[in-house]
Amino acid sequence: MSLELSYPVTLPDGQKFDQPSGLFINNEFVKSKAGKTLDSINPSTGEVNGSVYAAEKEDIDVAVAAAKQALPGWKKNFTGVQRGIMLNKIADKLQEQRDLLGAMEAWDSGKNKDNNAVFDIDECISTFRYYAGWADKITGRLIQNDPKKLAYTVHEPIGVVGQIVPWNYPLAMSAWKLAPALAAGNCVVLKTSEITPLSMLYVAQFFKEVGFPAGVVNIVSGYGATAGSALCVHPDVAKIAFTGSTATGKLIAKMAADTMKLVTLECGGKSPLIIRQDADLEQAVKWAAVGIMSNQGQVCCSTSRIYAHESIYEQFLQDLAAHVAKEYKQGTVFEPDCVVGPQVSRLQRDKVFNYIEIGRSEGARVVLGGEKNEQGDLSKGFFIKPTIFADVKPEMRIVQEEIFGPVVSVGKFSTDDEAIELANGTSYGLGSAIFTRDIEKAHVMAGEIEAGMVWINSSNDSDVRIPFGGVKMSGVGRELGEYGLSMYTQAKAVHVNIGLKL
Ligand code: NAD
Repeated sequence: MSLELSYPVTLPDGQKFDQPSGLFINNEFVKSKAGKTLDSINPSTGEVNGSVYAAEKEDIDVAVAAAKQALPGWKKNFTGVQRGIMLNKIADKLQEQRDLLGAMEAWDSGKNKDNNAVFDIDECISTFRYYAGWADKITGRLIQNDPKKLAYTVHEPIGVVGQIVPWNYPLAMSAWKLAPALAAGNCVVLKTSEITPLSMLYVAQFFKEVGFPAGVVNIVSGYGATAGSALCVHPDVAKIAFTGSTATGKLIAKMAADTMKLVTLECGGKSPLIIRQDADLEQAVKWAAVGIMSNQGQVCCSTSRIYAHESIYEQFLQDLAAHVAKEYKQGTVFEPDCVVGPQVSRLQRDKVFNYIEIGRSEGARVVLGGEKNEQGDLSKGFFIKPTIFADVKPEMRIVQEEIFGPVVSVGKFSTDDEAIELANGTSYGLGSAIFTRDIEKAHVMAGEIEAGMVWINSSNDSDVRIPFGGVKMSGVGRELGEYGLSMYTQAKAVHVNIGLKL
C-alpha cells in the first residue's frame, strides 16, 4: 500500500489538521523502506482513524545512523542555554495547540477529551518546561584528596538513546523521555506504540520548527517485535529507555545485554491502597476511585488492589460503588460530561473482560459493573463498565496480575502487619497508598511498603519534579525530577596531575 506522507483529517469536534504518516528521520517525513504501514483504530468506534508507515530493521538503521551523525555537532555546537530555549519553545507549541492535541489524543487513544486527554497535554508542557530549566544546570564535581592531584567529573550525554513508549499516554510518556534526554544533550530515536502512533508524529514536526538540528530527534512508528527489537540490539544505541509491560521489559533487558546498553524500564504494577480504621473515609473513597478509574484503569501505577480495615470494609464498598456509579459516567470521548472512555483496543477490552470472568470464577463478589458496556453506539467501541470486586483472596489471579482496566479488587485486613503483608504480596512494586489520620503510623508503613512510590492520603499523585518508578518487577531506574535527568548522563572522570612527580 502506498500512502501519502500526510493527509487531511477532520476530528469529530470539527477541528482540522494534516496528519503526518511518514517516519520522522533527519527532520523529514519519509516512507518506510519496504513500504509497510500500520492502521490506528478508533477505540470509541472500532473504525480505522488513519494509517502510518511502519519502520522495520532497515528503517531503524537509517534513524540510528541519523542520530549518530547528529551527535557530535549537537554536543559541540549547542550550549545548555540553547537546548533549554528550544525545549521551552516545544512547550510553547504544545500550549498553543493544547486543544487540538487533546482532541487528537482522545480520538486515537480513547481518553475523554475534556476530562482526561487535555491534562496529558498539560503534563507534556510541564515536562518540557521543567527539563528546559535543567539544560543549563547539568554540572559535574570537583574531587580533591591529595593537594598534588585534582579530579573533576563531567556529566556527559550518553549518546544515541532508543526510547520505546506504550499506548496509555502516547504523548506524555514520550515527553517524559524526550525532554530529559534532550536537556542532557543526547540524540534520540523514539518508537511510539503501534496502537497509538498519530499524535506523536504530529508533534514530531515541532522539533524541526523550533530549531533542533536534523537527526537529533527521530520519531518512528512500528511494531515492537520488528522496529522495537531492532533498536534494542543496535550496536550504535547506547541506552534504551522503555515504558510498557513487564513481559516486554524483561525481553528488552535481555536484548540490550549483548551490547551492554544502559537500560531504564518503567513496567507494570499492581499497586495496593490501604485504608486504616482511622482514615477519612470520604477522602479514601474519592481517591480510591481516582486511583483505578482514571484513564479507564490503563495506568501503570493505578491502585488496583484495595485493602480496607474489617471495621469499615462493607461501608467502604458501599460508598465506593455509589461514588463510582455517580461520578464516573461512561461514554464516547467527546461527550463533556463523561469520564470513562473505551479501552484502547479490542484486544485490551477482551483481555480485561477475560479477567472479569476469571475473578467471578475464582469466587470474588461483583459489587459494581462486571460486564462490557454495549448500550447503543457504545457497542461499536471497546467499553468495559467500571467494575468493583470484593472479598478477594491473595492467591487470586485478579489480585496478582495486572489487569490494566477499570477493575479494582477489594479485600480486608485486621492488623497493620497483615495490611503490609497483603500489600507486599505480589511481584510488583510501583505505587502504593495509605489512608490514615495517624501521621506517625503513616510514615512507618511507608517505610515498610515495597514500592517506588507511596501516597499518604492520596493516590496516583505525580509531579514532574518528583521521581517516578518502581522496584521488584515494576522496573529499573526512575523518570522525572533530577533523578530522571541523571539517567541520561554519565560521569567522565578527569584526573589532573598538579605535582605528583614520578
Ligand atoms: P507493551 O509492553 O506491549 O508495549 C510497550 C512498547 O514496547 C510498545 O511500543 C511496543 O511496540 C514495544 N514492544 C513490544 N514488544 C517489543 C519487543 N519485543 N522489543 C521491543 N519493543 C517491544 O506494553 P503496552 O501494552 O503498550 O502498555 C501497557 C503496559 O505498560 C502495562 O503493563 C503498563 O503497566 C505499562 N506502563 C508502565 C508505566 C510505568 O511508568 N511504569 C507507564 C505506562 C505503562
